Order: sequence, then C-alpha cells, then structure tokens
Amino acid sequence: MRRGVTSVFSDDIAIDLGTVNTLVHVAGTGVVIDEPSMVAVRNSNGVREVLAVGQVAKQMIGRAPEPIETIRPLRDGVIADFVATEEMLRQFIKRTKTMLGFRRPRILICVPAGATPVERRVVYETALSAGARRVLLVAEPVAAAIGAGLPVDEPAGSMVVDIGGGTTDIAVLSHGCVVQARSLRCAGNAMDEAIIRYVRRRHDLRIGETNAERIKIEAGTASQLLNGRTAEIHIRGRDLRHGKPKSIVLAPYDIAEALEDPLDELAEFVRRALEDLHLEISTDVCVRGIRLTGGGARLDKLDRELERRIGVKFLVPDEPMRCVINGSAAIFDQLGERGQLLLEP
Ligand code: ADP
Ligand code: MG
Repeated sequence: MRRGVTSVFSDDIAIDLGTVNTLVHVAGTGVVIDEPSMVAVRNSNGVREVLAVGQVAKQMIGRAPEPIETIRPLRDGVIADFVATEEMLRQFIKRTKTMLGFRRPRILICVPAGATPVERRVVYETALSAGARRVLLVAEPVAAAIGAGLPVDEPAGSMVVDIGGGTTDIAVLSHGCVVQARSLRCAGNAMDEAIIRYVRRRHDLRIGETNAERIKIEAGTASQLLNGRTAEIHIRGRDLRHGKPKSIVLAPYDIAEALEDPLDELAEFVRRALEDLHLEISTDVCVRGIRLTGGGARLDKLDRELERRIGVKFLVPDEPMRCVINGSAAIFDQLGERGQLLLEP
C-alpha cells in the first residue's frame, strides 16, 4: 500500500462498520480496533442504558448478573436500531481518539452498498458529532475491491463479491469508477439460520445461532461434490419433542446440504449482477475472475462451488476479512485520485 510522507503524521481514521465486525484503521499505525458490532444495554423502568460496546458487550452474553440485552444494531445490513448504532460508532471513535490523542480527525466510513440515504445520513451525522473534522462515506464492496488489490484503474471491468454477516455486497469497477454496486440481505447469518432449520427439520433438535456459526466454521463446506473436509462435528441441543438434551453428529456433506438455499440465493444474485452489466464489462469480469471477500468467503469450497454454478472463476485474496478496511485506508491515502468513489452523505 502506498503511503505518503504526510500520512504518517495525519489523523485519518477509516472505519469498516460491518454487520458482524467493526474495524478501525489509523493512518500510519494500522488496525487499532477489530471487534464485534455489538452493544449491551440494560432496560430498567423504561429507560435504556448502554453498558458496553464491542468485545466487552459480547462477553456479557449470558454472563451478566441482571437481564442485559445484547444488540447487533446493523444485523441485517440495515440499521435496525439507530440509537444503538450511534452509540457504538461514537464509542469506537472516542476510543480511537483517546488512544491517539486526536482532536478532530477526518473519518472515512464504509457502509453496505444498499444503505439508504437516511442510514447514510445517520452514520455521517454521528461521526460529525463525535468530533470529526470531515466525514467521508464509501460503499463497502468498493473499498473491498481496492483492498483486494484489483486493477480498478484499468479500462476493463473488475468485480468483487463481499460476503459479510448480514449482507452480500457486489461492486464492479472500471476506469477507476464504480460501474455497479448492489447489496443482498443474505450472507453469513443466513447460512447460520439455514443450519438451524436443517438441524430442526432432520433431527428434531433446537440449536442456537452461536452453535450454528461454530458448526459452519468448524465443519461446514459449500460443496456436496468435492472431497474437502471430512471431520464430523458433534452437536448438543434440546430435543424439540420432549425437551431433553440430545446430541447428534453432522458430516460436512450434511452441512453443504443445509446451506443449499442461501447458496442458491447467492449464486442467483451474482448471476443477475453479471447479466445486468454491459457485455464488454461482463466479458472482462468472466476473463479475469471474481474476487470473493468478507468473512463468508472463508467458507470451505465456496469459491469452487460458485465457480461450478456460475461458470466464472472465483478467487479469494489473503485476509478476506481485512479487504474492506485495507481498501478504505488506501482510498484515504489517495483521496486526490479516488474522490469519485465517495458516496453522497
Ligand atoms: P461484516 O462485514 O458484515 O461485519 P464479516 O466480513 O466480518 O462481516 O464476516 C462475518 C461473517 O463471516 C459471519 O457470518 C461469520 O460467521 C462468517 N465467517 C467468518 N469466518 C468464517 C469461516 N471460516 N467460514 C465460514 N464463515 C465464516
Ligand atoms: Mg464487511
């Protein structure tokens, strides 16, 4: 990544405001925060008090002495809870400022490609009121394309598919400009939910989201055909008929079957995005292959499965969960040449 001499001393903060994880990068320093997008609140007598955000909020799940609610305010890629989102963003900015002694930094924030003008405005205003000198907004997949090292300035189309928790975002760039940016509310969380449904349907067993995510990460695979993972996973849950604890064993093949619906939806989303491009650009994309980023890109054999279904090569860069934040930092660094990638607040 190119770094100007001035940026070493600059006070530029880039934020990847994800539905599952939020990352904060400081120019000249690197990533200083990488924590769950989570807020812990206490409701008493109709008054809601924010107790913690990020890692500390996550640790409170199930451990708090009193009823505490943990919220993922951006869970589905839309801001479900404006107050909690504001509070989370404010606290992350405050922590970064304190850590580095900044007064009025410039802040660049990534939002899902499908964020509404109202949602963008909330993010913008919150950062301003948290003490930013200037606030810039970028669509997540656009930052991901830069962070994945795609040759976006060339006169040919490059496509990135960023699979996060709540949303899958697609961007196509050419000549250094955004040709297409869109968002689908089906990503990692939808995979977890599909596993919960499968286990309920096939085994009469009720499992929670945390368990489902662990199953996906530890034993999941996208392909029922390719021999990849073989290790089985033991799962404990509650039997739906008589409520007793029960355990079952799932093989990677079963999990691929469970993931069939979200994978269909993802493949259809990419197929449609390709169809909606001008023929020349879609030909470029097919020749160059599609970059797969975000946490969802780490699902075993996802690249191969999408390739099989769509007929285009998929490539996963190193550190797919860091592409958005690295790209945001790079956009900040080259703001002169990259201004056309910014979104209207
Ligand atoms: P967001 O940008 O929406 O915050 P991330 O890019 O941080 O999302 O990705 C989070 C998602 O990635 C979660 O749904 C998580 O379960 C999933 N994920 C992380 N690691 C893996 C893995 N190894 N296999 C499958 N899914 C993964
Ligand atoms: Mg993301």
